[in-house]
Amino acid sequence: MNIQQDTSNPPPNAQNRRSAEPVICYELDCLPDFDADFYDRARSGMQEIDRITVPPRDAASFTVPAGHFFRIISVDGPQVGDLNLWNAHDLTERFFSGKTRQLHASHVTTGDRLWSTLPGLRPMATITHDTLGWYGWDEDGAGVHDVIGTRCDPYTNFMLKGVDYNYCCHSNLTRALAKAKSITVDAAEPNIHDVLNVFMCTGFTRDTHQYFMKASPVRPGDYLEFFAEIDLLGALSACPGGDCGSSHSDDNTPCYPLSVEIFKPAEAFLADWSGPVRNTYGGNHGA
Ligand SMILES: [Zn+2]
Repeated sequence: MNIQQDTSNPPPNAQNRRSAEPVICYELDCLPDFDADFYDRARSGMQEIDRITVPPRDAASFTVPAGHFFRIISVDGPQVGDLNLWNAHDLTERFFSGKTRQLHASHVTTGDRLWSTLPGLRPMATITHDTLGWYGWDEDGAGVHDVIGTRCDPYTNFMLKGVDYNYCCHSNLTRALAKAKSITVDAAEPNIHDVLNVFMCTGFTRDTHQYFMKASPVRPGDYLEFFAEIDLLGALSACPGGDCGSSHSDDNTPCYPLSVEIFKPAEAFLADWSGPVRNTYGGNHGA
């Protein structure tokens, strides 16, 4: 395993080459502002209309109409959730973890948007409240709610451990989508995608830049709240890693349920609001 790069033969101008200024990849001034007042007005007077419980080491699906809110809530104990989102009418438009990371950061919080895959590329949901916003960046460089990790899956687990484990988040999400759409597990699996790791506390080690996890700071009552910008189908897995403070992909770690609550804002708000349209790039690709 080569996790330490060979730095033994730098060129004479290595320092000069390394001294280029970092440039933020995307000019975010052009993105629509996060209008906190707008979302606060919509939140005031909203009413819970549905509640789904996600059992430990399993997943559940839910739908959220455009213009509604949903919360992912820690209930009985510290627990990480792996979230997939789709356009409720088109499974090919789904959450784009990589572009969300490029546009916002490695970890997301209030004001950040969850973007959809190309060619739609539009906000699927906006984060409107985060009770773990206080966490920020800790001394290990870790933060909460990452869009780095993909989801625990049985293939990587088999590759590394040589055993079958059927309750990884990838499999949990696959079963939940199959049930939601009344399709086979085989038909559902290709629609499972890189997740938002809700409540998960992660970073990269300073010496080798390896992805690490540490026990989530989430406690019962904490929640992450979203505004659905389009009609959403969601699936949430309560990761077999529990708080992801030790291991995952096994049945040994304490795991807890998660709750998803759906809220409807006041009718007056819905009457004045319309969601984002799909991206309008011409689509020629130079052909
Ligand atoms: Zn997992």
